Amino acid sequence: MNFEQFLAQKLDERKAQHRYRTRKVVESPQDTVIREGGRELLNFCSNDYLGLASHPDVIAAMQQAAGNWGVGSGASHLVNGHSEEHHKLEEELAAFTGRERALLFSSGYMANLGVINALVGKGDLVLQDKINHASLIDGGLLSSADFSRYRHNDMEHLEKRLKASKHGRKLIVTDGVFSMDGDLAALPEMVKLAEKYGAWIMVDDAHGFGSLGTGGRGSVDLFGLNQQQVPVLIGTLGKAFGTFGAFIAGSEALVESLIQFSRTYIYTTALPPAVAAATRTSLKLLQAAEGRRQKLKQLIEMFQEGCANLGLELMPSSSPIQPVVVGSDKQALQMANDLAQKGCWVSAIRPPTVPEGTARLRVTFTAQHTPQQVEQLLDAFEYALGSANAS
Ligand SMILES: *Cc1c(COP(=O)(O)O)cnc(C)c1O
Repeated sequence: MNFEQFLAQKLDERKAQHRYRTRKVVESPQDTVIREGGRELLNFCSNDYLGLASHPDVIAAMQQAAGNWGVGSGASHLVNGHSEEHHKLEEELAAFTGRERALLFSSGYMANLGVINALVGKGDLVLQDKINHASLIDGGLLSSADFSRYRHNDMEHLEKRLKASKHGRKLIVTDGVFSMDGDLAALPEMVKLAEKYGAWIMVDDAHGFGSLGTGGRGSVDLFGLNQQQVPVLIGTLGKAFGTFGAFIAGSEALVESLIQFSRTYIYTTALPPAVAAATRTSLKLLQAAEGRRQKLKQLIEMFQEGCANLGLELMPSSSPIQPVVVGSDKQALQMANDLAQKGCWVSAIRPPTVPEGTARLRVTFTAQHTPQQVEQLLDAFEYALGSANAS
């Protein structure tokens, strides 16, 4: 079999499984209504929970900074790419998270790979929730530490693993808000276990920052956990912050260690300074967005009530991620198509992103949605359910 034949066969297999991934070309900025293929669709799949990706102040900050700083950062942070904008943003993120220091990474994926690999190695153990984000799983797999997963949010299972371990260092890694389910990690119990067994905790709060906690300080704030209890805290900037990039927050020694040893920090170009400048503005807006968070909560509750009326089962989530589990990949795709016919864009999430048999429609809300738009989504679900029952 030649190269092209080999690829064609893999692609055919993927199609036969209803797992073929395609991209839609978006013809408008991120907003509650987006244009695609010449039509307008209500957007229920963005992670821009507070609507900051298209906020005029954030746009203006980026435009102005591009004028002052140019576009590219020119080099990595350790060469000469670490600008004043990056540095100030780090100081502001440290203050925001109540940690000693913060360090910017060029994406959340890279932060997770680079942090896990800098902290553990041969003879150590990485313990992860089964449904952690792919970047965390990959970080664990890439490290030369032993890698083990525990059942989703099952603290008894985690304890069993900790008890059995004879490893040097033990790192427990979890999403703060699980990205495909929307539920919260059992952090207070996890902290107790970490103390009991001498393990460290790393929380990736990509979906908690901005949407949860006082001033949008995320799941760790919601549970009142400090730097000692959760020494490694990750946030991403491409979600509720509305920009791009990621950060880690923690002790002085942690940040200095990452600057020395984290390969995905060292060997990559720094974010454009204008992205850092835009994020400084979005951080201010995010902290002050109590009204937006309140509205988001109301929209979520409205959707939950509507689903209950339709007999649609939701997952136990109070975050802006409200997945409707459908089951088969084919049904999930069909339902997404039906929703699109009614003007709503919801993405069908299929294995391997989620476990087998739990293909789902991952509905997300932003504070910019109106109650009328949520009604429209519920009507679309009613239509999709009708057409599923008819077929
Ligand atoms: C989106 C996401 C990431 C990846 O962040 P990027 O900045 O998009 O690379 C990491 N962890 C979680 C939990 C995420 O949801």
